[in-house]
Amino acid sequence: SPPSPRPSELQLHDVFIAVKTTQAFHHSRVELLLNTWVSRTREQTFIFTDSLDEGLQERLGPHLVVTNCSAEHSHPALSCKMAAEFDAFLASGLRWFCHVDDDNYLNPRALLKLLKTFPQTSDVYVGRPSLNRPIHASEPQPHNRTRLVQFWFATGGAGFCINRKLALKMAPWASGSHFMDTSALIRLPDDCTVGYIVECKLGGHLQPCPLFHSHLETLQLLEAAQLPEQVTLSYGVFEGKLNVIKLHGPFSPEEDPSRFHSLHCLLYPDTPWCPQLVA
Ligand code: UDP
Ligand code: MN
Repeated sequence: SPPSPRPSELQLHDVFIAVKTTQAFHHSRVELLLNTWVSRTREQTFIFTDSLDEGLQERLGPHLVVTNCSAEHSHPALSCKMAAEFDAFLASGLRWFCHVDDDNYLNPRALLKLLKTFPQTSDVYVGRPSLNRPIHASEPQPHNRTRLVQFWFATGGAGFCINRKLALKMAPWASGSHFMDTSALIRLPDDCTVGYIVECKLGGHLQPCPLFHSHLETLQLLEAAQLPEQVTLSYGVFEGKLNVIKLHGPFSPEEDPSRFHSLHCLLYPDTPWCPQLVA
């Protein structure tokens, strides 16, 4: 028989990157992302928010998605955004769905390297487990009964990815209004709901990956030499102190509290606003 055509090697343009944000963070967080990593992934990246913003709309065009979700930190509001991200991914036809929060730095080279390691024939859900054990939930059953279920899920705040093969199987619980229904059923947040659908509804498994990071972990512990290999990084405040990656330059902590500008210059030294090395 003739050789079957080899599926083309994965490229960044095969990946759909969804960023979750809210009106209050358009200026303080989204701006930072647009000036750093999103400048290298513009075609692939879609920012999901809850309020019109003329300035952002002008800069992003169709890459800004204004959902009808409410601008609050409630399970339904956040699940509403995850549902919008998931549906936009399904409609895009792309090969991978990756979700990040607006306080994540996503390294496209490290992401691509990771995604290339997965065989095309498998279902993939990859990210950082939120806990060191599975979470429990009670699943309502007919006749007022409940079933105790347990599953692993990837912390949304560290980012995670799902391939199309798996996403298509998730659609009955995750597309359209189903995602919010599923989330309401188990009464857990959006990232838990993704894990529940993959593990409890489909019998799949979270592939744990230490290259995704949220500000719930001590980011200082990462060595500078390891930073370029990480798929996502983050920043935040923990117990009144900034929880950020440890990087000496080129910008000071005062100029660059998140360290994302400094990280971006480490990864992309040819960026015009990075200090240029003189020969
Ligand atoms: N977020 C949102 N609506 C809100 C509050 C937060 O969509 O009302 C988004 C926010 O933009 C971010 C994510 O939810 O992408 C997590 O929010 P945050 O980092 O403030 O809280 P965390 O859960 O990390 O402490
Ligand atoms: Mn956060």
